[in-house]
Amino acid sequence: MDIAIGISQTAGKNNRAFNLEWFAKKKWLTASIQKKALFCFPCLLFGGSGGDVTWSRTGYKDLKHLSERITKHESSNSHLDNAVKLGLVGRVDVAVQIDSAYRRGIDEQHNRQVEENGYVLGRIITCIKLCGKCETALRGHDESADSLNPGIFRCIFETMCEGDARLQRHYDAQPVFKGTAPYRTNY
Ligand SMILES: [Zn+2]
Repeated sequence: MDIAIGISQTAGKNNRAFNLEWFAKKKWLTASIQKKALFCFPCLLFGGSGGDVTWSRTGYKDLKHLSERITKHESSNSHLDNAVKLGLVGRVDVAVQIDSAYRRGIDEQHNRQVEENGYVLGRIITCIKLCGKCETALRGHDESADSLNPGIFRCIFETMCEGDARLQRHYDAQPVFKGTAPYRTNY
């Protein structure tokens, strides 16, 4: 006998108990401890139709045929209508799908950003190496946007940006290149 909901059935010597796993398998399934019977939650709420009130009013007790009766009930028109009304149909799957698609989107965005950062960093290092070869100070005296002598690093970097969308994006987004950064960098 199932202690949790008290639904059991004696068939010959065998005592058949309701398996609680059914609740995990069928989200619409519910039970009345008082009536010692199973019900369908959406049909209980919105009512059965076609004369079948087993799952909505009287309650289901025949554990021997439970599996086939569950299959039959959940494919009935009245149950499907009620399930749609309650928003149960496909809700879990859709939620999972949206969730995984959302996660995938975030991952892709993150990977793209990491890749772009790596690329930009590589170009900056190239730029610094070039300055090092020429033994030139990286930073000019005046790096404001309209400066006539902005420093060799910025000049080289600006040249590298030409025709390079990824680098240009970084250049446009970083205040350090406009002389508007609130801190002094090591460039
Ligand atoms: Zn139902």
